Amino acid sequence: MDAAPYIPEQYKLSGRVGRAPLVAVLFGVPAALCGGWLYALVCYAVDHGRAQFWVSLAGPPIFGLGIYFLLSKARCRSPFFAFLAGALIGAAANYFHWAAYLYFKQVAMSTGALGGFFQWARDPHELLKGISTLASASGAGGIGEGAWTCEAAWTILCTAFVPWVVLKTEVYCESCGVWCKETKGIAFTEVPGDDALMGKLRTGRIEALLELKSLPKEPPVSHVRVSQALCPSCQNFGTYDLELKKIKKDEKGRESTSAEDLAMEMLLSPATAPVLGQLIARTQSAVAEAPPAPTAPSS
Ligand SMILES: [Zn+2]
Repeated sequence: MDAAPYIPEQYKLSGRVGRAPLVAVLFGVPAALCGGWLYALVCYAVDHGRAQFWVSLAGPPIFGLGIYFLLSKARCRSPFFAFLAGALIGAAANYFHWAAYLYFKQVAMSTGALGGFFQWARDPHELLKGISTLASASGAGGIGEGAWTCEAAWTILCTAFVPWVVLKTEVYCESCGVWCKETKGIAFTEVPGDDALMGKLRTGRIEALLELKSLPKEPPVSHVRVSQALCPSCQNFGTYDLELKKIKKDEKGRESTSAEDLAMEMLLSPATAPVLGQLIARTQSAVAEAPPAPTAPSS
């Protein structure tokens, strides 16, 4: 059976920022302040190089994810804005981290320096001088400053790229004003044997999958996996992904897998929705019809 002719269309976020600018200022600045303080506190309390290294490595990606959640709640559909806001919040967090760290160090050296944090934070020039003094005092000198520059770069890279990358994979229903919910692996088929069929899949022609044998969920053999992101409100708007998963076994039975995106975030349309429904039903019945594990012949 042939579906009505249509041209598969790739989904793209609208680029609207929603309430993100307001939320980025209202929550981003306190988040940078808290994140910076927390990090400085950990660095100060755990005066151990290796522990500090791991905290500085793992902290920024987690912070970046936090920024993504914040912007996602504010309905930011602009990856560019997410990148920009993330970079600025990351830079601010790094700045506050140094102000707090220098403040902690100063408190340790002399008592009664309360309010020293704001003294460091309000003057970037003094802050840089403080960092430089700390580098020479610790004996690390240029190496210390180099490492701290890398640390700052890593922080800003993570807080900018993590929200950007994650947001790019999200789908938003503009008419309902909600994010679509993704369900991975709603249908599975065998891998196409010929290039023509594979070519169709790469352009997002989902109906080509009807020519292939459907497989049960998460089959242990190479397969094409169909995933879907659907608006939880109208159940009408959404996208589908087609992915190829190759599973190989060597002579010793060791399994190796590789995955490839064939077509990502293709828009659901009146032409594709029934095809998707058929594929889901086929995969479900493939589960029911799955043959039992081979047993020894009874006679
Ligand atoms: Zn909707």
